[in-house]
Amino acid sequence: MHDDRVVYTKRCERLRRLAEADHLLIINETNIRYLTGFTGGDGALLVGPDWMILLVDGRYTTQASLETTGIEIVEFKVRADGIASVLQRKGIRFLGFESLAVSYGEYLKLRDALPHVSLQPLSSRLDFLRALKDDQEVGEIKKAIKIAEKALTDLRSFIKPGVTEADLAVELDYRMRRGGAGNLSFDTIAASGPNTALPHAIPGNRRVAEGDFVLIDYGAVYNGYHSDETRMFCVGSPSPRQREAYNAVLEAHDRAIAAIREGVACGEIDRIARSFLEHNGLGKYFTHGTGHGVGLDVHEAPRLSTGREDLLEAGMVVTVEPGVYFPGEWGIRIEDMALVAKDGCEVLTTPFEGLVEL
Ligand code: ZN
Ligand code: ZN
Repeated sequence: MHDDRVVYTKRCERLRRLAEADHLLIINETNIRYLTGFTGGDGALLVGPDWMILLVDGRYTTQASLETTGIEIVEFKVRADGIASVLQRKGIRFLGFESLAVSYGEYLKLRDALPHVSLQPLSSRLDFLRALKDDQEVGEIKKAIKIAEKALTDLRSFIKPGVTEADLAVELDYRMRRGGAGNLSFDTIAASGPNTALPHAIPGNRRVAEGDFVLIDYGAVYNGYHSDETRMFCVGSPSPRQREAYNAVLEAHDRAIAAIREGVACGEIDRIARSFLEHNGLGKYFTHGTGHGVGLDVHEAPRLSTGREDLLEAGMVVTVEPGVYFPGEWGIRIEDMALVAKDGCEVLTTPFEGLVEL
């Protein structure tokens, strides 16, 4: 049985440990959801040593009381004024805030509304608030992956000469939504031919042609949790150069996954994938980080990129997605999701069968 009160209390304790402040203002919507269960927007969460107050505007008052338990709900007309009145009532003089979530404009508004309160940017460790997933969260992520992968299986018969990238994206999105996705993790990337060399290609009117690589980077959202996976198809047979590059990316991907375990630095996973591609003369074509955490946001801590010293911990869910991109020609990316464990990792996405030739 999943006891929400226990779960949210534990999350709040972690927040207090990471934040190193007695009183906190949380306005990042994803963090508010994580800490309270409230899924609406435009709220503010005030956290004290043993209390939480959720401030919402009139559109969300009912929703907030339905979605949360044991939290005082306060309705505001102007957010900064609502925050000010609670702080005054509680006699709070020092308030930590998420420096990455509060815009400069909002900061000025808060400063004006709170002339007697000292605003203190919180530790950047707060990025790691949601990094460790509990069993329930891992379950939601697995469900999101299952919905997405089922949709991709159904899409295969559509990938053939003449179909446009936009058609492929629409068909895939429709199947994910029909399959139970509450949303899509991001705008689906369905790229073909030279467009596969653009890591964040926007599906357009280009028609798939014989000999093309087709790259699909996609994900489904289930109960707020995201999946993120990239698969490569080849319409017909790949050229020897394409096959060689593909095998190198796959080997970099496999080596990175084999190195994942608790206690390894995130930057080390990136280094392993990158150095393998460098040794194969492909280093300069690998133009992004090796992976990222996935959860209530599709991109969250930790980052598996060059020089990151943060250590992997059991319970983190990360992607591994090396790629190489030859502008004007083609690109390759292979992306899977893994759950970090004490002595290795569990690959959550369905084990890769190699380059799919259609
Ligand atoms: Zn992706
Ligand atoms: Zn990704």
